[in-house]
Amino acid sequence: MMNNSVFNPEQQQKEISSKIVAGLERISEVFKVLLWEKAKKVGLSPIQIQILIFIAFHKQELCNVSHLAKEFNISKPTVSDAIKVLDRKEMILKDFSSPDSRSYTIHLSALGKKIVAETNDFAEPLKAQIDTIGSNELENVFKTLGELIYKLNRNGILTVQRTCYGCTYYQKNKKTDYCNLLKKELFNEDIRLDCPEFEERV
Ligand code: SF4
Repeated sequence: MMNNSVFNPEQQQKEISSKIVAGLERISEVFKVLLWEKAKKVGLSPIQIQILIFIAFHKQELCNVSHLAKEFNISKPTVSDAIKVLDRKEMILKDFSSPDSRSYTIHLSALGKKIVAETNDFAEPLKAQIDTIGSNELENVFKTLGELIYKLNRNGILTVQRTCYGCTYYQKNKKTDYCNLLKKELFNEDIRLDCPEFEERV
């Protein structure tokens, strides 16, 4: 079993899928490194920065403790702790006006927006390298990435995704993909990974 490990370099020589897993593991380190650089600058933890950036770009119904826990695969108490710090630093505002009186949604304060402006480019060094790859190759990578995210979601590893493939409005025709909400054919580059209109297909 140990010999078959994808982390065993010998195994990686035997099959490309092992090499790809090892490669993805390396790339996941990039997010850690880049987030830590920003974290040091603004005096927040990586997860606190991720929460602020998420709130800045997503609809209110996703900006609550339960959803954030699912989105980032951490426990609700861990999210609550992060929110407590952000609240104490006056970077967020809690809104208790939702129909469910036990929970609240989270907004950014003016200071929170300023911090987002300083940190939301943390992944730019990664994007800059991706931009050096040819567009045909990128299209293929994107297609594979979308399929992989969808498959990982279907088998329960990745609980949250907002791609077309898992959306109620998505329709697969013989050779084309179609969005019944936008009423248009989806070419490869139109497939979304984080769609604001996404509704989970059940
Ligand atoms: S609503 Fe968004 S996620 Fe759903 S199929 Fe249309 S574009 Fe894709």
